Amino acid sequence: PEDQLCDVGLYGLAVMGQNFALNMASHGFRVCVGNRSPAKVDITVERAQKEGDLPLVGSMNPKNFIAHLKKPRKVVILVQAGKPVDDTIGTLATHMEPGDVIIDGGNEWFPNSVRRAKSLEPKGIHFIGMGISGGEEGARNGPSLMPGGPKEAYDMIAPILTKCAAQVEASGSCAGYLGPIGSGNYVKMVHNGIEYGDMQLIAEVYDILKNVGGMTNQEMADLFDEWNKGELESYLIEITSKILRKKDVETGEGEVVDYVLDKTGMKGTGKWTVQEGAEQGVAIPTIAAALDARMLSGRKEEREAASSILNAPTIEKPERQSLIDDVRAAMYASKICSYAQGLSLIKAASDEHTWNVDLAECARLWTGGCIIRAQLLASIQKAFKDDSSLVNLMVDKTFAGLLNDRVPAWRRVVGSCISNGIACPALCASLTYFDSYRRARLPANLTQAQRDFFGAHTYERTDKPGRYHTAWTEGH
Ligand code: NAP
Repeated sequence: PEDQLCDVGLYGLAVMGQNFALNMASHGFRVCVGNRSPAKVDITVERAQKEGDLPLVGSMNPKNFIAHLKKPRKVVILVQAGKPVDDTIGTLATHMEPGDVIIDGGNEWFPNSVRRAKSLEPKGIHFIGMGISGGEEGARNGPSLMPGGPKEAYDMIAPILTKCAAQVEASGSCAGYLGPIGSGNYVKMVHNGIEYGDMQLIAEVYDILKNVGGMTNQEMADLFDEWNKGELESYLIEITSKILRKKDVETGEGEVVDYVLDKTGMKGTGKWTVQEGAEQGVAIPTIAAALDARMLSGRKEEREAASSILNAPTIEKPERQSLIDDVRAAMYASKICSYAQGLSLIKAASDEHTWNVDLAECARLWTGGCIIRAQLLASIQKAFKDDSSLVNLMVDKTFAGLLNDRVPAWRRVVGSCISNGIACPALCASLTYFDSYRRARLPANLTQAQRDFFGAHTYERTDKPGRYHTAWTEGH
C-alpha cells in the first residue's frame, strides 16, 4: 500500500551503506535497503530491529527494491567505486522512471559521475555524485555530505540529507549544495587530499617530539590532549592522543602504536588530488609531500637496507618546552598552507568547469562529521564569506597575521629537522609554499632564460611588454 512505501532506498550494504541506512531510519525516514549479496540485507534488517525497531525494510531483488519506494524515487548507492557503480546503476535504472533520483555516495573519480549523469539523461533520471566523509561512525551518527548534481534533484533529497548529516551548533547541518555534477566528488577528493596532508603533518610532529624531543607516548598523548583544547582542536589530533595511549594487549607491554608496521596504505583519492593539481596547474606541495611520504613508507625493505648504508647525523636535543611551543606553531602554520592549497585547487577546477563552488560552503561542510573537521575550518569559512574573491587563504588579513606570527618558530622547527636528519616533507613543503608565494620576485627569471637559451621559448621582460628572444651565444 502507498502509505507503506519508503521515503528513500539505499543500495550497497557494506560498512558505509549499512550505517547510513540506519542513520536515515533513526531520523524517522522509512528506508528500503538492498545489496548484491543478500546476507548483508538480513544483517542490516536485524541491526535496525536491535537498535530500536527502526523503520527499515529489506529487499532481496532490484525490481522489488525499487517497487518499495515512494515516487519520485530517491536511491542512494554505496557500493565500491568504479565498475560496481555502473553495474548497480544499470540494474536499478531499468526499474526507475523519469523524475527519479540516484545519489552515488562513493569516493568516485569525478569524470565518472559526469559520464553517468549524461547516460541517465535520456531516461530523465537525475544523478547526484555525493562525497561522504566520517567513516563508519560518521555514516551512522552524522557524516559530512558533499553533493553535486542538478539543483532540483538536490532539493528533493535535501530534507533527508540535512537531517542525517552532522549538526554543528555554529555552522548548521554539514550537508549543502555544492554545484553541478562532478563538483561534489571533486570537493570530497580534495578533502581526502587535505586529510593526507593533515595526517602527514601530525606524523612528522610525532617523529620530532619522539626522536628529537625524547618524549614518551604518554607524554605525547597528554600534549595532544592539551593541543586539542586550543587552535589545533580537530578530530585527527583527538584520535592521535587516543592512539598514543592505547596499550598493547598482544604483548601486554607498551603501546600498540610501537608495534604497528610503518607502511602506509592508500586507496587512491590522495593520488587523484595530486594528479588534479598537475592537471589544473595548481601547486599543492603539502598534499604531494604527504603522498610521497606514503609511497616511501611502502619501501620498508629498501629503507631497512639503506639504514645501514646511508649515514644519519647525531641528534642535538633542544630545550623541550621551546621545542614543543615551536612545533605547535609550525604545525598550525603548515596546516593553513595546506588548506590554502586544497581550496585553490577546488577554485581552479570550479572555474574551469563553471561549477561555481562556494569555498565558504566547502569549509562549512567540513566543520563537522568529516575526518578533517577542525576549529580552523570555522575561521576559513569566515575568510571566504567575508571575501568570496579571496585569491589565496594565506593573504586573508587574519590568516596572514597568524602565519607571520608563527614564521620564526616554523623556521626553527624545519631547520632543526634538517640538521637532525629527521625528514619533515609536509612541514617543509608548507613553509616552502609560503616562502615562494610571499616573494614578489622568484629565480624563475633564470629558468626562463635557460628555456630561451636551449629552446628559443622566448621570455617576457620586466621593463616593457612583448615577448623576446636573445641570441645567447652571440657577442658578449
Ligand atoms: P566497499 O568495500 O567499497 O564496497 C563493498 C560493497 O560494494 C558491497 O556492498 C558489495 O556488495 C558492493 N559491490 C561490489 N561490487 C559490486 C558489483 N559489481 N555490483 C554490485 N555491488 C557491488 O564499501 P564501503 O567501505 O562501505 O564504501 C562504499 C563507498 O563509500 C566507496 O566508494 C568508498 O570509497 C566510500 N567511502 C568509504 C569510507 C569508509 O570509511 N569505508 C568512507 C568514505 C567513503 P557485496 O556485498 O555483494 O559484495
